Amino acid sequence: MMGTLIRCTTCNAIMHMTEGDFSPHYTWNGGEIKKIEMDDRKAFLEKHKGHNTEHLTPLTPPISDKPYNEPLKTSYFEATNGNERFLIKRWRTKIEDPFAYEIIEGSIKLTNGTLRIQTSAIKKQLQAEGDSLISERKVNSFIQAVRAEVELLDPAALAVSAEGETPLASYYQLGSSCVDRILTRCRDKFTQHELNKLRDFINQHNEYADVMTVVSKKEFAIKTRVQKKDSPEAVHPNQHIGISR
Ligand SMILES: [Zn+2]
Repeated sequence: MMGTLIRCTTCNAIMHMTEGDFSPHYTWNGGEIKKIEMDDRKAFLEKHKGHNTEHLTPLTPPISDKPYNEPLKTSYFEATNGNERFLIKRWRTKIEDPFAYEIIEGSIKLTNGTLRIQTSAIKKQLQAEGDSLISERKVNSFIQAVRAEVELLDPAALAVSAEGETPLASYYQLGSSCVDRILTRCRDKFTQHELNKLRDFINQHNEYADVMTVVSKKEFAIKTRVQKKDSPEAVHPNQHIGISR
C-alpha cells in the first residue's frame, strides 16, 4: 500500500495521502478544460486545524472477500502509530471516488479455513489426457485417496504455490511425501503401470494453480473489543465473512 496514513488523534479521523493528492485534477467546463488545484491533504489539515495528527504505518495488506479486481469492495487492514494498533475500514461507493477510510473498533482474525481438492478439474484433466486405461471407477478411487490425504494436511504448514482470486484464497502444492501416501492408498486398486501414470499425472499438475494443487478457503472475522450498540457503522463481533467460489 503506497502513500501515507495520517490520523487526527482529536477526532480519530483518518486520511490516506497519495501522490494524486498533490497533482491537479481536470474538469470539462463550457468547452474548456479547467485545471483545478486539488489538495486533499490541505483540506484534511484545514478541517483538523489545531488538532494533533500522527502518521500510521500499515501492518497488514487490505483484506476482503471480494476479488482483487473488484473496484468497489470494502477492505480492512491494521495500522500502528508505534504504540497502538488500529483497524481501518477502506471503501468507496463510486469507481471515480477516492477511497474513504474509517477507524473501527476491533482487530482482524484470520482462520486457515479448509482445504479443498479440485475434484471436477482433476476428472476433466484425466479425461482430456485420454487415458482409457483408467476407468471412471478407478478415477473415483484416486479422487478418494487424494481427498483422504489432503484432509490430514495442516494448512498452516503448506507452502503457497499461487494466490487465488481473492486475498482469502490460495493454492498449495502437494508435498512429495503426501504424493507417496496417495499412491500407497491406491496400491490395491491400480496396477503398477497405472500407479506410475498417476505419479506422472500428479507431478505434471502440481504447480501454480494446476488441478492437483489444493485450494484453501480462509475466513476472516472482525473481532470487536467494544460494541457500540447505536452506531450504524458498528461491526458485529465475530462477523464471519466467507468467500464464494
Ligand atoms: Zn480532527
